[in-house]
Amino acid sequence: MKVWRLLMVGIVIAGLLAACTAPPAGTSGSTGKAMPKAADGTLLRKIQDRGKIVVGVKYDVPMFGLLNPTSNKVEGFDVDVAKEIAAAIFGNPDAIEYKEAVSKNRIPFLQDGTVDLVISTMTVNAEREGQIDFSNVYYLAGQSLLVPKASAIASINDLAGKKVGTAKGSTSEQNIRKMAPKADVQLFDGYAEAVAAMDAGRLDAVTTDDNILIGFQAKEPNKWKLVGGQFTKEPYGIGIAKGHPETVEMVNKVLADLKKSGKWKELYKKNIPTTPPEPPIDNWRQIVGQ
Ligand code: GLU
Repeated sequence: MKVWRLLMVGIVIAGLLAACTAPPAGTSGSTGKAMPKAADGTLLRKIQDRGKIVVGVKYDVPMFGLLNPTSNKVEGFDVDVAKEIAAAIFGNPDAIEYKEAVSKNRIPFLQDGTVDLVISTMTVNAEREGQIDFSNVYYLAGQSLLVPKASAIASINDLAGKKVGTAKGSTSEQNIRKMAPKADVQLFDGYAEAVAAMDAGRLDAVTTDDNILIGFQAKEPNKWKLVGGQFTKEPYGIGIAKGHPETVEMVNKVLADLKKSGKWKELYKKNIPTTPPEPPIDNWRQIVGQ
Protein backbone atom coordinates (compact mmCIF):
# COMPACT_ATOMS: atom_id res chain seq x y z
CA MET A 1 0.00 0.00 0.00
CA LYS A 2 2.72 2.41 1.09
CA VAL A 3 4.87 1.58 -1.94
CA TRP A 4 1.93 2.24 -4.28
CA ARG A 5 1.28 5.59 -2.70
CA LEU A 6 4.93 6.61 -3.04
CA LEU A 7 4.92 5.52 -6.66
CA MET A 8 1.79 7.56 -7.39
CA VAL A 9 3.28 10.67 -5.74
CA GLY A 10 6.44 10.16 -7.78
CA ILE A 11 4.51 9.94 -11.03
CA VAL A 12 2.51 13.07 -10.24
CA ILE A 13 5.69 15.06 -9.41
CA ALA A 14 7.43 13.84 -12.57
CA GLY A 15 4.40 14.89 -14.60
CA LEU A 16 4.33 18.34 -13.07
CA LEU A 17 8.04 18.85 -13.69
CA ALA A 18 7.67 17.84 -17.34
CA ALA A 19 4.74 20.24 -17.78
CA CYS A 20 6.74 23.11 -16.33
CA THR A 21 9.89 22.65 -18.38
CA ALA A 22 8.63 21.63 -21.83
CA PRO A 23 7.14 24.28 -24.15
CA PRO A 24 3.62 23.48 -25.33
CA ALA A 25 3.64 21.44 -28.54
CA GLY A 26 3.30 23.46 -31.73
CA THR A 27 4.59 26.79 -30.43
CA SER A 28 8.11 27.95 -29.81
CA GLY A 29 7.21 30.61 -27.34
CA SER A 30 5.40 31.25 -24.14
CA THR A 31 3.22 34.28 -24.75
CA GLY A 32 1.21 33.65 -27.88
CA LYS A 33 0.56 31.62 -30.98
CA ALA A 34 3.17 30.99 -33.65
CA MET A 35 2.22 31.84 -37.23
CA PRO A 36 1.74 28.99 -39.73
CA LYS A 37 4.90 27.75 -41.42
CA ALA A 38 5.89 29.68 -44.54
CA ALA A 39 6.67 27.92 -47.83
CA ASP A 40 9.75 25.69 -48.02
CA GLY A 41 12.91 27.45 -49.15
CA THR A 42 11.86 30.97 -48.12
CA LEU A 43 13.78 33.19 -45.69
CA LEU A 44 10.74 33.29 -43.42
CA ARG A 45 10.68 29.47 -43.29
CA LYS A 46 14.40 29.42 -42.49
CA ILE A 47 13.77 31.86 -39.61
CA GLN A 48 10.87 29.72 -38.36
CA ASP A 49 12.90 26.49 -38.53
CA ARG A 50 15.78 28.17 -36.68
CA GLY A 51 13.43 29.14 -33.86
CA LYS A 52 14.69 32.72 -33.61
CA ILE A 53 15.15 35.80 -35.80
CA VAL A 54 18.53 37.51 -36.11
CA VAL A 55 18.16 41.30 -35.99
CA GLY A 56 20.78 44.03 -36.42
CA VAL A 57 20.21 46.99 -34.10
CA LYS A 58 22.23 49.88 -32.73
CA TYR A 59 23.92 49.33 -29.36
CA ASP A 60 24.90 52.96 -28.72
CA VAL A 61 21.81 55.01 -29.57
CA PRO A 62 19.65 56.04 -26.59
CA MET A 63 15.89 55.51 -27.03
CA PHE A 64 16.28 53.39 -30.21
CA GLY A 65 18.95 50.72 -29.72
CA LEU A 66 21.05 50.88 -26.59
CA LEU A 67 22.87 48.11 -24.76
CA ASN A 68 22.03 48.54 -21.08
CA PRO A 69 25.26 47.67 -19.26
CA THR A 70 23.41 46.69 -16.07
CA SER A 71 20.99 44.21 -17.62
CA ASN A 72 23.23 43.45 -20.63
CA LYS A 73 20.07 43.74 -22.79
CA VAL A 74 19.39 46.04 -25.72
CA GLU A 75 16.55 48.52 -25.31
CA GLY A 76 14.69 51.09 -27.37
CA PHE A 77 12.04 51.73 -29.99
CA ASP A 78 13.81 49.69 -32.70
CA VAL A 79 14.27 46.80 -30.25
CA ASP A 80 10.57 46.92 -29.34
CA VAL A 81 9.61 46.79 -33.03
CA ALA A 82 11.86 43.70 -33.36
CA LYS A 83 10.04 42.13 -30.40
CA GLU A 84 6.66 42.70 -32.08
CA ILE A 85 7.94 40.88 -35.16
CA ALA A 86 9.27 37.95 -33.10
CA ALA A 87 5.95 37.80 -31.25
CA ALA A 88 4.10 37.61 -34.58
CA ILE A 89 6.34 34.84 -35.94
CA PHE A 90 6.90 32.69 -32.86
CA GLY A 91 4.39 33.85 -30.28
CA ASN A 92 7.46 34.87 -28.28
CA PRO A 93 8.86 38.43 -28.28
CA ASP A 94 12.21 37.16 -27.00
CA ALA A 95 12.97 34.71 -29.81
CA ILE A 96 15.59 37.12 -31.13
CA GLU A 97 19.35 37.09 -31.50
CA TYR A 98 20.62 40.67 -31.60
CA LYS A 99 23.73 41.77 -33.47
CA GLU A 100 25.22 45.24 -33.31
CA ALA A 101 24.72 46.89 -36.70
CA VAL A 102 26.51 50.24 -36.95
CA SER A 103 25.54 52.43 -39.90
CA LYS A 104 28.18 51.17 -42.35
CA ASN A 105 27.50 47.46 -41.55
CA ARG A 106 23.77 47.45 -42.12
CA ILE A 107 23.64 46.68 -45.84
CA PRO A 108 26.61 44.22 -45.85
CA PHE A 109 25.07 42.34 -42.88
CA LEU A 110 21.88 41.80 -44.90
CA GLN A 111 23.69 40.92 -48.11
CA ASP A 112 25.96 38.32 -46.49
CA GLY A 113 23.22 36.81 -44.30
CA THR A 114 24.72 37.88 -40.95
CA VAL A 115 21.24 39.17 -39.99
CA ASP A 116 17.69 38.55 -41.22
CA LEU A 117 16.50 42.10 -40.53
CA VAL A 118 18.08 45.47 -39.85
CA ILE A 119 16.12 47.73 -37.49
CA SER A 120 18.77 50.32 -36.87
CA THR A 121 17.59 53.95 -37.32
CA MET A 122 17.90 53.33 -41.06
CA THR A 123 16.61 55.80 -43.61
CA VAL A 124 14.98 54.44 -46.77
CA ASN A 125 16.17 56.03 -49.99
CA ALA A 126 16.51 55.17 -53.67
CA GLU A 127 20.24 54.42 -53.48
CA ARG A 128 19.76 51.93 -50.65
CA GLU A 129 16.71 50.42 -52.35
CA GLY A 130 19.06 49.45 -55.16
CA GLN A 131 20.94 47.21 -52.71
CA ILE A 132 18.33 45.86 -50.26
CA ASP A 133 14.56 45.80 -49.76
CA PHE A 134 12.75 47.87 -47.16
CA SER A 135 9.53 47.57 -45.21
CA ASN A 136 7.05 50.42 -45.13
CA VAL A 137 8.07 53.45 -43.05
CA TYR A 138 7.87 52.91 -39.26
CA TYR A 139 9.39 56.19 -37.97
CA LEU A 140 10.08 59.65 -39.33
CA ALA A 141 13.16 61.61 -38.21
CA GLY A 142 15.01 64.64 -39.58
CA GLN A 143 18.69 65.58 -39.51
CA SER A 144 19.87 68.20 -37.02
CA LEU A 145 22.97 69.42 -35.13
CA LEU A 146 24.24 68.81 -31.60
CA VAL A 147 26.72 71.40 -30.29
CA PRO A 148 28.21 72.40 -26.91
CA LYS A 149 25.90 74.58 -24.85
CA ALA A 150 28.09 77.69 -25.28
CA SER A 151 28.60 77.20 -29.05
CA ALA A 152 27.84 80.06 -31.44
CA ILE A 153 26.78 77.57 -34.16
CA ALA A 154 23.06 78.07 -34.77
CA SER A 155 22.42 76.39 -38.13
CA ILE A 156 24.04 74.52 -41.05
CA ASN A 157 25.06 77.94 -42.41
CA ASP A 158 27.59 78.28 -39.58
CA LEU A 159 29.67 75.18 -40.33
CA ALA A 160 32.34 76.49 -42.73
CA GLY A 161 35.74 75.35 -41.43
CA LYS A 162 34.10 73.64 -38.42
CA LYS A 163 34.81 70.04 -37.45
CA VAL A 164 31.54 68.13 -37.74
CA GLY A 165 31.33 64.50 -36.66
CA THR A 166 28.96 61.86 -38.01
CA ALA A 167 28.84 58.11 -38.80
CA LYS A 168 30.42 56.38 -41.78
CA GLY A 169 27.85 55.08 -44.24
CA SER A 170 25.04 57.29 -42.96
CA THR A 171 22.71 59.57 -44.86
CA SER A 172 23.86 62.19 -42.32
CA GLU A 173 27.32 62.10 -43.90
CA GLN A 174 25.95 62.45 -47.45
CA ASN A 175 23.56 65.24 -46.46
CA ILE A 176 26.08 67.34 -44.54
CA ARG A 177 28.64 67.16 -47.36
CA LYS A 178 25.96 68.48 -49.73
CA MET A 179 24.36 71.05 -47.47
CA ALA A 180 27.49 72.39 -45.73
CA PRO A 181 30.24 71.77 -48.31
CA LYS A 182 32.80 73.84 -46.40
CA ALA A 183 32.45 71.85 -43.17
CA ASP A 184 35.35 69.61 -42.13
CA VAL A 185 33.48 66.29 -41.87
CA GLN A 186 34.99 63.70 -39.53
CA LEU A 187 33.75 60.12 -39.64
CA PHE A 188 33.15 57.66 -36.80
CA ASP A 189 31.72 54.13 -36.57
CA GLY A 190 28.96 55.21 -34.22
CA TYR A 191 27.33 58.32 -32.79
CA ALA A 192 28.32 57.70 -29.15
CA GLU A 193 31.94 57.78 -30.32
CA ALA A 194 31.34 61.08 -32.15
CA VAL A 195 29.73 62.65 -29.08
CA ALA A 196 32.69 61.45 -26.96
CA ALA A 197 35.07 63.16 -29.44
CA MET A 198 33.08 66.40 -29.11
CA ASP A 199 33.26 66.03 -25.32
CA ALA A 200 37.05 65.77 -25.63
CA GLY A 201 37.08 69.04 -27.61
CA ARG A 202 37.94 67.45 -30.97
CA LEU A 203 34.67 68.39 -32.73
CA ASP A 204 32.56 71.54 -33.00
CA ALA A 205 29.33 69.69 -33.78
CA VAL A 206 27.82 66.23 -34.28
CA THR A 207 25.18 65.78 -36.96
CA THR A 208 22.63 63.04 -37.52
CA ASP A 209 18.90 62.44 -37.01
CA ASP A 210 17.33 64.66 -34.35
CA ASN A 211 15.89 61.71 -32.40
CA ILE A 212 19.40 60.28 -31.98
CA LEU A 213 20.86 63.64 -30.92
CA ILE A 214 17.99 64.26 -28.48
CA GLY A 215 18.92 61.02 -26.71
CA PHE A 216 22.50 62.19 -26.19
CA GLN A 217 21.38 65.69 -25.19
CA ALA A 218 18.94 64.27 -22.61
CA LYS A 219 21.77 62.28 -21.01
CA GLU A 220 23.91 65.41 -20.51
CA PRO A 221 21.58 68.42 -20.77
CA ASN A 222 24.13 70.76 -19.23
CA LYS A 223 26.67 70.02 -21.94
CA TRP A 224 24.76 69.97 -25.23
CA LYS A 225 22.04 71.73 -27.19
CA LEU A 226 20.27 70.91 -30.47
CA VAL A 227 20.35 73.64 -33.11
CA GLY A 228 19.42 74.13 -36.74
CA GLY A 229 16.02 72.41 -36.68
CA GLN A 230 15.31 69.46 -38.98
CA PHE A 231 17.01 70.14 -42.31
CA THR A 232 16.18 66.76 -43.96
CA LYS A 233 13.48 64.10 -43.80
CA GLU A 234 14.65 60.65 -42.70
CA PRO A 235 11.91 58.03 -43.03
CA TYR A 236 13.02 54.81 -41.30
CA GLY A 237 12.39 51.37 -42.79
CA ILE A 238 13.30 47.83 -41.78
CA GLY A 239 16.01 46.43 -44.05
CA ILE A 240 15.64 42.95 -45.59
CA ALA A 241 17.94 41.32 -48.14
CA LYS A 242 16.59 41.39 -51.70
CA GLY A 243 14.40 38.54 -52.93
CA HIS A 244 12.27 37.70 -49.87
CA PRO A 245 8.79 39.07 -50.58
CA GLU A 246 7.16 36.80 -47.95
CA THR A 247 9.35 38.35 -45.22
CA VAL A 248 8.68 41.91 -46.42
CA GLU A 249 4.94 41.13 -46.41
CA MET A 250 5.08 39.65 -42.89
CA VAL A 251 7.01 42.68 -41.55
CA ASN A 252 4.62 45.12 -43.23
CA LYS A 253 1.65 43.31 -41.70
CA VAL A 254 3.18 43.68 -38.21
CA LEU A 255 3.84 47.40 -38.83
CA ALA A 256 0.31 47.96 -40.17
CA ASP A 257 -1.15 46.29 -37.05
CA LEU A 258 1.09 48.41 -34.79
CA LYS A 259 0.00 51.64 -36.48
CA LYS A 260 -3.68 50.71 -36.54
CA SER A 261 -4.01 49.30 -33.01
CA GLY A 262 -2.47 52.22 -31.15
CA LYS A 263 0.46 50.01 -30.06
CA TRP A 264 2.84 52.19 -32.14
CA LYS A 265 2.05 55.14 -29.89
CA GLU A 266 2.51 52.96 -26.81
CA LEU A 267 5.98 51.92 -27.94
CA TYR A 268 6.79 55.54 -28.76
CA LYS A 269 5.67 56.69 -25.30
CA LYS A 270 7.63 53.92 -23.60
CA ASN A 271 10.91 54.93 -25.27
CA ILE A 272 10.72 58.59 -26.27
CA PRO A 273 9.82 61.18 -23.65
CA THR A 274 7.63 63.42 -25.84
CA THR A 275 3.97 63.19 -26.85
CA PRO A 276 3.68 60.61 -29.63
CA PRO A 277 2.75 62.04 -33.05
CA GLU A 278 0.54 60.12 -35.46
CA PRO A 279 2.43 57.14 -36.93
CA PRO A 280 4.12 57.99 -40.25
CA ILE A 281 2.51 57.09 -43.57
CA ASP A 282 3.83 53.92 -45.25
CA ASN A 283 5.40 55.34 -48.40
CA TRP A 284 8.82 57.04 -48.07
CA ARG A 285 8.59 58.68 -51.51
CA GLN A 286 5.42 60.46 -50.49
CA ILE A 287 7.12 61.64 -47.29
CA VAL A 288 10.20 63.09 -48.97
CA GLY A 289 8.35 64.20 -52.13
CA GLN A 290 10.19 61.99 -54.65
N1 GLU B 1 18.97 57.60 -40.51
C1 GLU B 1 20.26 57.87 -41.02
C2 GLU B 1 20.84 56.69 -41.78
O1 GLU B 1 20.19 55.75 -41.96
C3 GLU B 1 21.22 58.33 -39.95
C4 GLU B 1 21.22 57.52 -38.70
C5 GLU B 1 22.15 56.33 -38.72
O2 GLU B 1 23.24 56.41 -39.29
O3 GLU B 1 21.77 55.31 -38.17
O4 GLU B 1 21.93 56.73 -42.27
